[in-house]
Formats: sequence, structure tokens, C-alpha cells
Amino acid sequence: MPNSAQTQLNHTLTLRIIELSILTLAFSLVIRPLFVHLSDIFLWSAVVNLILTISFYAVVRAHLVPKWEITLSLIVALIIIMPTLAISGGVNSQVAYFLPLYPIFAALIGGARESIAITVILVICTLFATVFGHLITDLTEEVYSVEKSLDRGFWLTTAIIFSAFFAHFFLRKYAELTKKLNEENTQDPLTSLLNRRGLNLYFSIELDKARVTTSPLSVILIDVDYFKKVNDMFGHDIGDICLIDIGNLLKSNLKNKDFIARFGGEEFIIILPNTSQGDAALIAEKLRNLVSKEAFSDFKLPLTITLGIAEYNDHNDNTLSIIKRADKALYKGKENGRNRVELSE
Ligand code: GH3
Ligand code: MG
Ligand code: MG
Repeated sequence: MPNSAQTQLNHTLTLRIIELSILTLAFSLVIRPLFVHLSDIFLWSAVVNLILTISFYAVVRAHLVPKWEITLSLIVALIIIMPTLAISGGVNSQVAYFLPLYPIFAALIGGARESIAITVILVICTLFATVFGHLITDLTEEVYSVEKSLDRGFWLTTAIIFSAFFAHFFLRKYAELTKKLNEENTQDPLTSLLNRRGLNLYFSIELDKARVTTSPLSVILIDVDYFKKVNDMFGHDIGDICLIDIGNLLKSNLKNKDFIARFGGEEFIIILPNTSQGDAALIAEKLRNLVSKEAFSDFKLPLTITLGIAEYNDHNDNTLSIIKRADKALYKGKENGRNRVELSE
């Protein structure tokens, strides 16, 4: 979803495009009659389009149609193509060479919807200009030939559709890359769980939801017991494998609505939306039990975890204050002998 800065940029670019379109149309209306004879029908269609474009510009500028503004404004920008094509010589005009670029521009500025809308309109305009080519002043000053006009119309349509496909593939690739980049930014490379950045992102969203819906939310902070010993005795590589396995084990025993992140070295954090501290304690106890029964890595190492739980309970709570309480509970668990679940006060 584009953020507000992106939307603002799109909006500004769109307005610039319509302004340029209006200028081009007005300029060609004023200048062309000095060089070529315009048939009245094209002159009037250009004037009507100019008025239409200016009205739409006002509508978009006033934010009267915020959702559709980009699509609408790009369509408006295109409305003027027909008379421009007509004024400048139809499919034989040099203006026509630029048409295949529009689906790509639309994809870059708007998105898939805008690109498709423009492609459809362009193809209709081109077919129209091809069929009525004999009515259009041919600026190339070639002898008008139906065959040549049909040929150009065909290749122009093909080029526009080809460009639309290119725009579509470009958008898909762009979406894939953005998704990958976001994942890389929020994913812990060792365990593939969320990292601290990912945690902050999702935790604040869930906390806002809990605030609005006044539903409970609990946090479990987990620390692996005596993990330094694993590294000291079996090496860092085996320690890493144990961390990956613990992460997978914890994750596979959570529901879809819950999420887990790697909080630090050998610490994990679980966010449980819509879950009270009491229910979180049951989940924590189940996870503690599962880990304590598992044997990790090729060395079949027995490992245990200590878990501290805190619940969102006050409107002044923020992500940090909740984690702080869970950390206190965790510390208490360590003091009370490890391999246990402790609730915050
Ligand atoms: P405690 O029960 O008090 O938590 O004891 P502990 O040994 O787990 O605690 P401590 O915080 O003293 O040590 C944590 C160790 O976790 C230190 C470090 O060697 C290890 N560690 C942290 N991050 C990683 C990592 O990414 N890979 C590996 N293999 N070890 C890590
Ligand atoms: Mg630790
Ligand atoms: Mg530890």
C-alpha cells in the first residue's frame, strides 16, 4: 500500500501531466491553424476536450475524487490524444510515435489499473484514427493511402499492447523486489523469524488494535537457559543450529494470529493478540514443556527456556513498557531457578 508521501507525489505528478496536456492542446489549437487547414469537426472536438480536461483538472486538484484521481486524471490526459492525433495527422503523425510510451508512464505514475485504462483508451483512439484517417489532415504531406494508414494503425496498436505487457511485467517485478526488500529488512537472517524492526512494526499495529477494540494483548519474552555453555562446549555453529530449531519449534506451535520475533542473541519474543495473561501463561507453559522434551542438533542437546509474561493493561502502555514488564518477569524466572514461566505483577 502506498504511504501518504507516495500518494502525494503521485498526485503532484498527475497534476503536472494534466497541466502539460492542457498546454499542449491549447498550443496546438492556436498554432496549427497557421500552418494547416483544420476541418471544423476536429477543431470543435479539440475545444470540447480542452474544456473537459480543464474541468477534470479542477476536480482532481480540489481532491474531490481522491480514490480515483490518478486513474481519472490519466484518462483525462488521454482524452486530448484523440484531437491531438486528429489535428496533427492521425496515425501518420509524429505524435503517434509517443503513444506506446503512455502505458509505461501510467504504470510508473499510477499502477496496473491506470496502465490498463490507458491502453484500452489508446487502442480505441488509434483504431478510430485509422478508420477515419481519410478525414484527417496528413501533415506528412504524403499521398493518402488506405493501405499505408491501416499498416501504421496495426503496428501502432501492436506497439501499444506490447508496451502494456512490458509495463505489467515491470510492475510485477517491482512488487516482487519491494516485497523481498521489506522481508530482508524485517527478517532475522539466522532464524528467518521477524527481527527487532519487524517486531516493532507489527507490535505497534497490534497494540493500536488492542487499544481501539479494548481487547487483551499479551507478550511472552523467552530466554534460553545456560546457552553460553552450548557455545563453549560445542561451538558457535551448533549454538546457531539450536537457535534455528528452537525458533522453528516455537513458531510451529503458535496460531496464525500470533507472531514471534528474535529479540536478541538467544532471546525470542511472542506477541499474542486477543489473549489475556492467564491464557498466555497456558501457551507459555506448553512451549516450555515442548522445548524441555526436545533434543537439539546432532548432539541431541537438552535445552530449556525461561519465559516472562506481561499483558497490556493501561492506556499509557507502549511497546517498550510492556516488554520491560515481561523482561522483569523473565528475570524473576531466572532467579527462581530457570525452565519456568513467570507472570509480571
Ligand atoms: P542464562 O540462563 O542466564 O540466560 O544463561 P546464558 O548463558 O544463556 O546467558 P548469557 O546472556 O550469559 O549468554 C547468552 C549467550 O548466547 C551468549 C552468546 O554466546 C550466546 N549467543 C547470543 N547470540 C548468539 C548467536 O547468534 N549464536 C550463538 N551460537 N550464540 C549466541
Ligand atoms: Mg540472554
Ligand atoms: Mg540465556
